[in-house]
Amino acid sequence: MTIDNFDFKGKKAIVRVDFNVPLDENGNITDDTRIRGALPTLKKILNDGGSLIIMSHMGKPKGKVNPKMSLSQIKDAVAKALGTDVAFAPDCAAAGDMAAALKPGQALLLENLRFYPEEEGKPTIDKADPNYDAAKKEMKERQKDFAKTLASYADVYVNDAFGTAHRRHASTAVIADYFDADHKMLGYLMEKEVKAVDNILKDIKRPFTAIMGGSKVSTKIGIIENLMDKVDNLILCGGMTYTFAKAQGGNVGLSICETDKLDLALDIMKKAKEKGVNLVLGTDCVAADAYSNDANTQICSVMDIPEGWEGLDAGPETRKRFADAIRGSKTILWNGPAGVFEFDNFTAGSRAIADAVVEATKDGAFSLVGGGDSVACVNKFGLADEVSYVSTGGGALLEAIEGRVLPGVAAIKGE
Ligand code: AMP
Repeated sequence: MTIDNFDFKGKKAIVRVDFNVPLDENGNITDDTRIRGALPTLKKILNDGGSLIIMSHMGKPKGKVNPKMSLSQIKDAVAKALGTDVAFAPDCAAAGDMAAALKPGQALLLENLRFYPEEEGKPTIDKADPNYDAAKKEMKERQKDFAKTLASYADVYVNDAFGTAHRRHASTAVIADYFDADHKMLGYLMEKEVKAVDNILKDIKRPFTAIMGGSKVSTKIGIIENLMDKVDNLILCGGMTYTFAKAQGGNVGLSICETDKLDLALDIMKKAKEKGVNLVLGTDCVAADAYSNDANTQICSVMDIPEGWEGLDAGPETRKRFADAIRGSKTILWNGPAGVFEFDNFTAGSRAIADAVVEATKDGAFSLVGGGDSVACVNKFGLADEVSYVSTGGGALLEAIEGRVLPGVAAIKGE
């Protein structure tokens, strides 16, 4: 079932959203992107004449009630965004009466799901404990009961929380077992995310260029390996540049470098060659004499960085080579900055990539930017609206690109 094809009139819908919004010390929302992201789904249900039960987690309360992570703090903001009153259920596992009392067009927000350990379904005892296996089994049963309780509030289940789609939690996956295929569906945000990943992994228009940056090769290896079979150009940039330079016998000074991953770097280079992938690595860099925005800088080869200096950004020749590879691409994936973009003096590499991605997008490419820092990076440059899609999912997006099945999607689509 798809959300567009379902008429919610007279139905109660329980919707898993990701309202894990950042709060300041007074409990005020500092960034409401996630609330705005869920609005199309929530409004569709209300406008159809359905009633809405909204559920989410916030933070990591580890299965215990923690007022600092209470969703009551965001109730008014949700009501304002929806343009209607929102009731609040202070115990998400005892909200049956409140849910039953909902009339068409009314909304109820449940308290933080993760106040219950059953949501995540992890045993509360240590792995080393001899009773761990039994506790794990017991917790799985409790998780099913918890999911069943949540399911009992509604006629339909909608999952619109892409940020947690890579977790098999009670509200993201297990709950789907209590609805038939005609009464569970992805929300609009989830549909868009899944479609964007499909564009990158399935409906690829060539040339396909993937740009992987960030600090370490070790955290990106799963994705790099999966992409190696799919891309035409693979740009590896950011901190991992120096692991590759060192692996090839370079002197990288104080640059970030994973000395235990040198063989891995050489293996990636070998595989790229075998598979005919155009691997584009940095050749020059902006080296700094301190990890600071105000450090002295010099442009040097990544193979020859002076003692005491560290590469913090891509050099001019590298920026040009990156832009050349990106220009003309028809599918682009960008994850991870090309330098320490948080420092204004080391944004040039990431900026060159962003500009080239925007240019290629104007020329008809599908560009997906996602996974943590690259989103902050395009936001910093004010270019988020000029790429095809900016993903809201960090870990979920990266796992999807690694080719893993997301439990939250599989629970609904059965894949
Ligand atoms: P990741 O979370 O692995 O995507 O890494 C993102 C982080 O990598 C950002 O905070 C960047 O500042 C950092 N980064 C990018 N290039 C470098 C570099 N050359 N040296 C140190 N950190 C870097």
